[in-house]
Amino acid sequence: MGLRKNKFMITITDLNGSRNFVLGDVIKRIALYIVLVFVLIGVLTTFYVRYLLETTNEAKELMSDLQRQNSMINEAKQASQLELERLEGKISELGEQYGVDLNTSLENATFVQDIEKIMLSVAETKALFDGIPNGDPTGGQGRISDHYGYRTHPVLHYRQLHAGLDFAMPVGTPIYATANGVVLSAGMQPGYGHMVEIRHNFGFGARYGHLNGKYAVKQGDFVKKGDIIAYSGNSGLSTGPHLHYEIRFISKALNPINFVNWKQENYKDIFQKEGQIQWQSLVKLLSPQITNKAQ
Ligand SMILES: [Zn+2]
Repeated sequence: MGLRKNKFMITITDLNGSRNFVLGDVIKRIALYIVLVFVLIGVLTTFYVRYLLETTNEAKELMSDLQRQNSMINEAKQASQLELERLEGKISELGEQYGVDLNTSLENATFVQDIEKIMLSVAETKALFDGIPNGDPTGGQGRISDHYGYRTHPVLHYRQLHAGLDFAMPVGTPIYATANGVVLSAGMQPGYGHMVEIRHNFGFGARYGHLNGKYAVKQGDFVKKGDIIAYSGNSGLSTGPHLHYEIRFISKALNPINFVNWKQENYKDIFQKEGQIQWQSLVKLLSPQITNKAQ
């Protein structure tokens, strides 16, 4: 580094030899570089902003295209739904015209529509109410404390079907048969504790669980609706004194609530409320002339 007329001079030595720079020139050159860098940033920013604007527009167009397609799909969906309903109407019309049962669901739908026309005689109604469980197995002494359906088991703590209806009441309350039948079993059963199982008419059955172990019936006994069969308790997987009441059809547990509320004066209610039974076929069995008229 040397001095020349009050100006600083910088000497850079490298493989190609030495060069001298005056400090003033160095500052000018740095300023020029800075200006160039700014110009470059400006140009790049302009291009970038233009690019962003273009992509936004493209995205907007794409979005409105998608919305248009979506509304077209919805229109098509509605149209095919209407067409489906129209066809279903046609099919049931044809079925009625030719008196043909096209399938079970249509058959049941027609039966439910025709329920008003069904009038069972006193004897036919009695056959239903003697043979199929109905009414309250506690004779009004129990209070419904848990319903049929999926729940977390109070003792086992995992979700499973609660296959019956629970009636809370003091231990030792009499329990009544809810229809005529024959005692299948009276004894201890896993989970149920002391239990009575009765087979009723037309494929129905009932289970009475968590009893106190004092039985009024034994296996093979015939029972009449209203007979005392046992006394309530707290045995088996139970967290408090209650009756677990199950209604079974063939091998399936049904929701007992419709049967508990089933009364002679509204005997047709069960045909609409309990959809798992082919009531039409049972009514036909009891009263063939009525179902022929109804069709
Ligand atoms: Zn229960």
